[in-house]
Amino acid sequence: MADAKRIVFLGPPNSGKGTQAVRLAAALGIPAISTGEMLRSAVAAGTPLGHRVSDVMDRGELVSDDLMAEVVKARLAEDDAKVGFLLDGYPRTLPQVETLDSILESIGASIDHVVMIDAPEPVLVERALGRGRKDDTEDVVKIRLEEYRSKTEPLVGHYRGLGLLREIDGHQSMDAVQQAILDAVKDQ
Ligand code: ADP
Repeated sequence: MADAKRIVFLGPPNSGKGTQAVRLAAALGIPAISTGEMLRSAVAAGTPLGHRVSDVMDRGELVSDDLMAEVVKARLAEDDAKVGFLLDGYPRTLPQVETLDSILESIGASIDHVVMIDAPEPVLVERALGRGRKDDTEDVVKIRLEEYRSKTEPLVGHYRGLGLLREIDGHQSMDAVQQAILDAVKDQ
C-alpha cells in the first residue's frame, strides 16, 4: 500500500504519548496499536499471555523481546493494519527494532515517522504518581524510567540517524502537543 501511513511513537512513561497516539491515529484513520494496552487487557482477561506477563509488568520491567515479537507480528497481520498503523510502545529495545524491520520488510513496507515525545524527568514522575494505576507506585515508576533510559532511549539515536525522528516537546498543553505532532507528520 503506497499511501499507508506507518508511525512509531517513542517516549518515556507519562510523556503523554498514549493520549496523543489515540488522537493522531483517529485523525489519520489508522489503528492505534498500544502494546501496553494489549498486554494489560490480556492480564485483565486472564489469557495465557496475560499470565505470562503480569509479574514482569507489575515490577515495571520489560516483557521479553521474543514474546513481544509474537504479539506484534500477530497484531500487524490483522486486516485493519493494512491501511497503516500507529505503534505506541513498540519497539522499545534495539532487538525489537530489528523484529519490526523484518516484519515490515516481509510486506514491502517501511516506517514513515518516529514521533518522540519527551518532558523533563520531574514532570514525568509527578504525572505518574498522580495517575494511580497499579504499576505506578514510586519504586515501579523509577524502574520503568530506568528501563526506558537504558533500553529504549538508544532507539532515539538510531531513528535520528535514519532521518525518521520527529521530536516533540511534551511539556505543553495536550492540544499544543497534538498540533506539533500533526505538523511534524503532515506530508511535505
Ligand atoms: P507506558 O505507560 O510507559 O506508556 P505501556 O502502557 O506502553 O507503558 O506499557 C506498560 C508495560 O507493558 C511496560 O512497563 C512493559 O512491562 C510492558 N510492555 C509494553 N510494551 C512493551 C514492549 N514493546 N516490550 C516489552 N515490554 C512491553
